[in-house]
Amino acid sequence: MCGIIGYTGERGAAEIIINGLKRLEYRGYDSAGIALVDGSLYVEKKLGKIAELEHALDFPALGHFKAGIGHTRWATHGAPSDINAHPHSSCDGRIALAHNGIIENYQAIKKMLLDKGHRIVSATDTEVVVHMIEYYNQSHSLAASVMLALQKVEGTFGIAVVSKDEPGVIIAARRGSPLIMGLGENEMIIASDASAIVEHTRKVIYIDDNEIIEIRKDGFKSYDLKKNVKSKKVEDIDWDIGLIEKQGFEHFMLKEIYELSLIHISEPTRPY
Ligand code: GLU
Repeated sequence: MCGIIGYTGERGAAEIIINGLKRLEYRGYDSAGIALVDGSLYVEKKLGKIAELEHALDFPALGHFKAGIGHTRWATHGAPSDINAHPHSSCDGRIALAHNGIIENYQAIKKMLLDKGHRIVSATDTEVVVHMIEYYNQSHSLAASVMLALQKVEGTFGIAVVSKDEPGVIIAARRGSPLIMGLGENEMIIASDASAIVEHTRKVIYIDDNEIIEIRKDGFKSYDLKKNVKSKKVEDIDWDIGLIEKQGFEHFMLKEIYELSLIHISEPTRPY
């Protein structure tokens, strides 16, 4: 329903992320955002169409960023707005996070974070996660901090996280919300949907529930949430882009009708 994309490699990340978000557009969304990292962190978020976000970006000036994440949001907690759009940032502006899903226990986590002096600026359930990562990141690597934060989270998530202190690294994890990683030549792409990956590579890894991946342009490490290393199988996708977007349905409309029926059958609020 909403989308995540991340890129790390040698090409300009902004164009690749915006193009990837457009591939995910058919799933529906209310706002979109991007976070780019090198030694600095650049974040832009806009209510409305991806075109609004695209117009706000100076692509030539952003060309030095070779890694980043993007998100299309479908609001569950907090109205659609610029500030509630993802990625969300840590208080110190070092870390950014995009999230699909629902953090069920965000109120309890928020209270604990406010007591520790964190500033929560959005009305989303998501933002608490980036502040927890910031908290643990005082004494742990980004990957370990994400792992520790996710051990505290109840609910569903597909997340992608970047930090200006570890440029070129994307941490991704999921529970109950899809994520796929594409392996290219000196580049990696993570996305919630294969349609954002297949124009770059057909070699993919399906990320499992409760799995966390530390991604660099030339390799990755996979763990469960207790830090055990996982071995992964690289698979080939041989569908064409149109088929992937329609996921086997003859027309988009049939696919949308099917997805709407799932909303009523499986979940009263919204599907992931
Ligand atoms: N629950 C989050 C929010 O409302 C994520 C929504 C989504 O999956 O797009 O911001």
